Amino acid sequence: MKTFLSKLSGWGRASQYSTKVTTLDINNVSEQSKTTSIARGLGRSYGDSSINRELVLSTKKLDKVISFDKEKGIIKVESGLSLKALLEVIIPTGWFIPVSPGTKYVTIGGMVAADVHGKNHHCEGSFGNHIDELVIVNNGKKITCSEEKNHNFFWNTIGGMGLTGIIYSVKFRLKRIYSDKIIQSTVKTKNLKETLEVFQNNPHSAYSVGWMDLSANGKEKGRAIVFFGEHATKSTNLSSFRFPKFKIKIPFIFPSYIMNKLLIDLFNRFYFLFTSIFPKKIIGLDKFFYPLDSILDWPKLYGYRGFFQYQAVFPMASSYFAINEILDCLKKEKVSSAVSVIKLFGEENASLSFPRKGFTVCFDIQCNRDTERLYGLLMDITKKYEGGIYLAKDQFCKKESMPDRARYEEKLTNIKNSMNQMLYSSEQSDRLK
Ligand SMILES: Cc1cc2nc3c(=O)[nH]c(=O)nc-3n(C[C@H](O)[C@H](O)[C@H](O)COP(=O)(O)OP(=O)(O)OC[C@H]3O[C@@H](n4cnc5c(N)ncnc54)[C@H](O)[C@@H]3O)c2cc1C
Repeated sequence: MKTFLSKLSGWGRASQYSTKVTTLDINNVSEQSKTTSIARGLGRSYGDSSINRELVLSTKKLDKVISFDKEKGIIKVESGLSLKALLEVIIPTGWFIPVSPGTKYVTIGGMVAADVHGKNHHCEGSFGNHIDELVIVNNGKKITCSEEKNHNFFWNTIGGMGLTGIIYSVKFRLKRIYSDKIIQSTVKTKNLKETLEVFQNNPHSAYSVGWMDLSANGKEKGRAIVFFGEHATKSTNLSSFRFPKFKIKIPFIFPSYIMNKLLIDLFNRFYFLFTSIFPKKIIGLDKFFYPLDSILDWPKLYGYRGFFQYQAVFPMASSYFAINEILDCLKKEKVSSAVSVIKLFGEENASLSFPRKGFTVCFDIQCNRDTERLYGLLMDITKKYEGGIYLAKDQFCKKESMPDRARYEEKLTNIKNSMNQMLYSSEQSDRLK
């Protein structure tokens, strides 16, 4: 068993922590689960949710496929398997992940712990909706749980941000595909009102996601390019499917002044005006689901101070007013974002995780001396409109200002009540108490 000292940060690189890291494998997972610590997958959560100053348990060696029923599309894997590796096993057999985040460099364990959502939440819910069984290791014991067995422990681990123990394995249902292509259609909207309407008028589109132009003002505020996607049904040869190897590499950490408002606004304007819209365009899975993966280490673009992502969800009735006020706030504070995404969520599941009915928005914002104050303003708006924040993206929230604290308190109480076992802890769980 290898333990080493390491400097870790979240994907946003806003804070660094020195800590001990132990690599878990099948032989030591039970023993290691006896220490208060936190599991860590590929570290794609933006903040400090997979960091514990005492000990971090890396799952990168728990990377096996345990069983795969290719007829029924049911797979059981160890939790440290990456989504990319999983896709390279299942796509050649005509299956796809039912819910995918915007990067394939995450682990299946990380997807469960954050209960990730994709561009299809309005139709398919979050990843937790597709899980049949989890095996969780807590204080030396392996606990098998499902909808029927240890029901509460099952739903509390989904979206539980690693606090219920180490997820050892995950059994889940896949989605049938016949092609590695997506039929994409694109709509440009004139303002925020139209952006929300375009989503609501297309509730049956398999996938939908919008990119907002943050340089737009006045009557054009909230204008967006909304992408819709359907899996192509005309069969293609999937048996030799592999992701392209070529990637752009960011060689060093950029000076902070490069990502300035002027440049980001120019990018936004240019991208909005020159992205051509096609009623129908056929593109590869990789381009549709994982456009950011083509640039390695892109957080280095944000400089030494890093960046944070603010992601919130708002009830349907208040979404327009809430997003409008957030756009005004960012404008007033002279901040811009090159990645400003909007998605429609459907019904929530039993896990009390982040996704719930309404609209979700997220913005990538460079950190500076004023970040905590700006974060506070965003939390106030989120609270005012009864929204909630996504813990997988959070780095700066404080206990007192957490907008949907009551929901997470309920989740934590549920976790405590559903187990006589040990509770694990991260920098995030300590910060939010
Ligand atoms: C470019 C990009 C795009 C993204 N797009 C989306 C998106 O569209 N939708 C979405 O929902 N999320 C999205 N995310 C967030 C990402 O999917 C989640 O943060 C996910 O949890 C990361 O997985 P990971 O393996 O890197 O986990 P880590 O970041 O290492 O850990 C995240 C959490 O999971 C816990 N955890 C990890 N493995 C285990 C385990 N085996 N047992 C118990 N707990 C565990 C950790 O303790 C921590 O609390 C995106 C992230 C990036 C960088």
